[in-house]
Amino acid sequence: MIPKFETQAIRTQTEQSQFQEHSSPLYLTSSFVFEDAEEMRASFSEEKERNIYSRFSNPNTSEFIQKVSQMEGAEDGVAFSSGMGAVFGTFATFLNAGDHLISARAVFGSTHSLFTKYFPKWNIETSYFAVDQLDAVEDLIQENTRCIYVESPTNPGVDILDLEALGKIAKKHKLFFIVDNCFATPYLQTPIQFGADLVIHSATKLMDGQGRVLGGITVGKKELIRELYLFARNTGASLSPFNAWVLSKSLETLSVRVDRHCENALILAQKLEQLEEINWVKYPFLPSHPQYELAQKQMKQGGTIVSFELKGGVEAGRNFINKIQLCSLSANLGDSRTIVTHPSSTTHSKLSTADQLAVGITGGMIRLSVGLEHQEDIWNDLIQAITQ
Ligand SMILES: *Cc1c(COP(=O)(O)O)cnc(C)c1O
Repeated sequence: MIPKFETQAIRTQTEQSQFQEHSSPLYLTSSFVFEDAEEMRASFSEEKERNIYSRFSNPNTSEFIQKVSQMEGAEDGVAFSSGMGAVFGTFATFLNAGDHLISARAVFGSTHSLFTKYFPKWNIETSYFAVDQLDAVEDLIQENTRCIYVESPTNPGVDILDLEALGKIAKKHKLFFIVDNCFATPYLQTPIQFGADLVIHSATKLMDGQGRVLGGITVGKKELIRELYLFARNTGASLSPFNAWVLSKSLETLSVRVDRHCENALILAQKLEQLEEINWVKYPFLPSHPQYELAQKQMKQGGTIVSFELKGGVEAGRNFINKIQLCSLSANLGDSRTIVTHPSSTTHSKLSTADQLAVGITGGMIRLSVGLEHQEDIWNDLIQAITQ
């Protein structure tokens, strides 16, 4: 019998050394040594599978990759120094100059910058679609289209994209379907099951979950991962063994942490929805969410992010942020500590007002990354900042 998610997250480990340690040791080494000329030859020609140099592979990185691949139902993966390393490395491997890509309009800020500032250098053009316009996706396909790219739930609007429908469109037109699964984690959602070819994570967020290290990973089919691996090993955005060790330990507790994040988030979203100071609250597992049924279908729980709009616009948003005491004002998310941000003046300030509105960001909108503190303490902080 294949062990369940929680068991694999805990029991997948590198081999024990002669010391028979219980917890995986940290292999802080840049390279590995060989017995003789023949072993060196066999290793470099890949006849023999083993570690050579930590930019290529390292036992800690391999353990992290193995765990995430199992969790996502993928064959293999490549680890990167950050989520953006994974996003860029994946596109750079599979897109050629002159290609076209189709992306959901709401994507992570730096990913949006790749599309708008850097890809045009290689003549790579991006077309966008809105979450509720899946019908329009097929019309966007051109002769040179290579892939469809989405995040779900989106940041910061927590909209849901229909992964199964998009997977079918991608398959029909022989396009790569790439999903950034950072907001859901493989515990809540496994995009490969819905037809994704490659799944990307910023491990910096819920995978670490304690705001300590940066990391990224892409997983998928063996033959695609092989190409990605060669790109990654030659371009150097490798995950450090130390960060891989931290992340692999963190994955042991992913399921229990995410359970609590989701439990707290749902309670707070329900309470916020009752307040007259608030125009709307969005959380995938609130029945009022426009894609509630879809969220129920493709996710196990609603995730850690709640967004809401205060009455009173930008001023109310900034006032709320200034009144917050317990929660952190920080750019991270998916942390054990609750974090509040005002997207329109911070993470998404580089977007024009029209572009902000197109992805649901208004002046009074707050993004809440619900942490693991007691939900009553988080609530007390939110309510004093909202009502003051
Ligand atoms: C944070 C984030 C990234 C980038 O990850 P880093 O580890 O910060 O480089 C990419 N996608 C999403 C959805 C994110 O939230």
